[in-house]
Order: sequence, then C-alpha cells, then structure tokens
Amino acid sequence: MSFKDLQLNKPILRAVAEAGYDNPTLVQEKTIPLVLDKKNVIVSAQTGTGKTAAFALPILQLLFDKQDASKSGKKIKALIISPTRELAVQIEENFKTYCKYTNLRTTVVYGGTSIEPQKDVLKKGVDILIATPGRLLDLHKQDTVNLDYVDILVLDEADLMLDMGFIDDVKKIERLCTREKQILLFSATIPFKVEQLANTILNNPERVEV
Ligand code: AMP
Repeated sequence: MSFKDLQLNKPILRAVAEAGYDNPTLVQEKTIPLVLDKKNVIVSAQTGTGKTAAFALPILQLLFDKQDASKSGKKIKALIISPTRELAVQIEENFKTYCKYTNLRTTVVYGGTSIEPQKDVLKKGVDILIATPGRLLDLHKQDTVNLDYVDILVLDEADLMLDMGFIDDVKKIERLCTREKQILLFSATIPFKVEQLANTILNNPERVEV
C-alpha cells in the first residue's frame, strides 16, 4: 500500500515524500482510513511504529478538507494531549513537517516554563494545539485558550498519562471540547484503567493493534 492509496491530498503527500517516507507503516495503514472516516479509535502501538503520523496525517487531511483559507488559525480544531513535554515537542515537530505545504497552524504548550510567550502565540491563533494536561488547564483558566471548537481530540500515550496521575485532568479537558467530537486514544498497552477511561469517553470505538 502507498500513501496515495490512503486518500491524502497533494500538499500532505509532498511533505511525506520529502520526509523520506516511502510507504505507510502498519499502524498507519490500519489507522488512517478509520480516522478519515471520523471513527473513534483505540490504537495500541509502541513508540517507533509510526504512530504519530498515524494520527497527524489524517487530522491534517480532515482539517485541510474543511478549511476555509480566510479562517485558518482562528479556532483550535484539533487538540493532542501528551503526558510529557518531550513527547509534546516531538509531536509538534512531526505536525510541522507534515503541514508545511498547507496553511494550517500548530503550536505546543507545556509546563515548567514561562506561560506568557505561550499566551502570545495562542492569541495569534492556531488550528492544532499540542499540550500537556496541566499547562493546558492553566491556560484555559486564564481564558487564553478556547476549546469550544475542538472536534478531534487525541490522547497520546494514555497509559503513561494515567500512570502520571492525569486522569482527572484528561476528563476535564475532554468535557471542555465540543460534545460531538472524534476521539483517538493511543497507548503502548491497554491496561484496565485505560480501558475504563476509554469506556467513559469513547463512543463505539474501532480498535487497532500492531
Ligand atoms: P513514532 O512511532 O511516531 O515515534 O515514529 C517513529 C519514527 O518513524 C519517526 O522518526 C518518524 O519520522 C518515522 N516514520 C513515521 N512514519 C514513517 C514511514 N511511513 N516511513 C518511514 N519512517 C516513518
């Protein structure tokens, strides 16, 4: 299978080719069509399998499809929650690589660093926000981030997120986004507490295992 078979638009295909990817990985082959089909998905995949592109590419495609160029960057439409700053930064780097021929805007926010510059970037507007849970909620409390229009929510490394004690934050964040949203949950393993979280917030999910 090639990336073209996955119904991705030219600007995305061009960026993927420049990144040196010849063919989709297994998790990408299985996950991308489900995301494009607006399904809720639980993906069990380890780091290194290409799982970031498995959600990033179809999200870019979905946003690209509904994009009205004049409105780019006015509202956050996709939100990716990551347990750690390092992972959040990596995810944003991936998005930047894949969206460089679109006019979609991304940024990343995380704790342990000054909040003011993050507020300034958010004020200018982004389409895709990558965040760690605590800092996102701080920014929301300070009215500098509006999640009312988020209709795609990704929980990356959900097992680690719960191990780190972010369960209540994750549930709070989920409730702040649009009701009728698509949720993608990625986790290296699916222990009982991840299953429980999925049961609470994901309606009728499809499952991918690699
Ligand atoms: P991840 O599992 O998302 O951390 O990705 C692991 C590495 O694989 C990253 O360095 C990606 O840039 C790379 N990668 C992702 N998808 C592909 C692909 N289809 N072909 C080659 N490399 C890829």
